[in-house]
Amino acid sequence: MRPSVASPVSLDAVIGLGSNLGDRRATLQSAARAVAALGTLLGASPTYESRAVGPPQPDYLNAAVRLRAVIEPPALLELLLGIERDHGRERRERWGPRTLDLDLLWIDALAVRTARLVVPHPCLLERPFALRPLLDVAPDARDPASGERYADRLATLGEAGLRRHSPPLVGA
Ligand code: ATP
Ligand code: CA
Ligand code: CA
Repeated sequence: MRPSVASPVSLDAVIGLGSNLGDRRATLQSAARAVAALGTLLGASPTYESRAVGPPQPDYLNAAVRLRAVIEPPALLELLLGIERDHGRERRERWGPRTLDLDLLWIDALAVRTARLVVPHPCLLERPFALRPLLDVAPDARDPASGERYADRLATLGEAGLRRHSPPLVGA
């Protein structure tokens, strides 16, 4: 008998993109293309501008893309961190300004909890600037543990302070 080899899983994932330094839209577009190259792009949201959380700093531009890819979640995170570095990300203070932030917001029907990776993203339920673009690309998305619909959660939080910019990041 041959030893069994775990077959790679196909993930349906939503990645949040954020920037508040440099040419924010150009950076998000370039990063979205780099993420798309990891698999099949299932959708891209418009961009949303909002005030930064944390120390005083420029406003953020946020968006989300939905990706289907045959990859394990920790490997996907490492690739996303590599794309951040390729776009000039430097890690200084927590929540400080950055050219690019890529967060693995959600993976369909999957919860992950390791030292390096927590999915859904631990702050997702508190962040309209992440939930809004996530719902643009995955309108029916739910929390994998509780089953709560993110659309219901966003309706509770409200969308005050989000300024929508069309068109979508890529494909328009
Ligand atoms: P926040 O997590 O509150 O959005 P941040 O994006 O500024 O803050 P980073 O400095 O970009 O935080 O990331 C710190 C670490 O978070 C990463 O090195 C990564 O290991 C870890 N991490 C855990 N879960 C996730 C996730 N779902 N997506 C991205 N990074 C994650
Ligand atoms: Ca983040
Ligand atoms: Ca991050």
